[in-house]
Amino acid sequence: MSRLNAVIARLTAQRDCLDWLATQLPDLTAPILELGLGNGRTYDHLRILFPKAPIYVFEREVGAHPSCIPPEEKLLLGDFRDTIPTAMDRIGAPAAFAHADFGDGNPERTGKLADWLSSALDPLLAPGAWIITDQKMTNPTWISIAPPKDVPAGRYFMWRKP
Ligand code: SAM
Repeated sequence: MSRLNAVIARLTAQRDCLDWLATQLPDLTAPILELGLGNGRTYDHLRILFPKAPIYVFEREVGAHPSCIPPEEKLLLGDFRDTIPTAMDRIGAPAAFAHADFGDGNPERTGKLADWLSSALDPLLAPGAWIITDQKMTNPTWISIAPPKDVPAGRYFMWRKP
């Protein structure tokens, strides 16, 4: 598959998973966690899908489109390993779901981060919360959920905290 088609497939899978989740969580008002602001594309999509929910964004360095920069009070700036362990002080309530898109093209480094996030993220999530991610997570208590049928296997992942 060309790199162009790979990007299109990833973004399509991402959008399909988030759109599907919005059908499961209508009128959501509980916090959402966005790990990896990047260009701000999924952040922008999330704030349209979930207009009543506060979205807390974790990002090392803001480089998003100017129209997609979160308000300062909802931006947790720094490495995930520094911001996530104390994030509940800022967020104040367990999250309904986390969307984590953090792959950087280095499978070993990304895999280690996915392992770390699999346990570090858990205390920020409410029972029944969803985890939508571009990476395979390894929390043994989370239940793997099949993504929507049009999402190719292994392209995007969904989990649920019991
Ligand atoms: N979903 C975004 C979008 O739609 O534009 C793209 C996210 S981009 C693929 C991944 C982002 O995760 C990058 O901006 C990177 O800086 C951030 N990131 C990766 N590892 C991180 C870490 N350990 N701490 C903080 N941010 C990290």
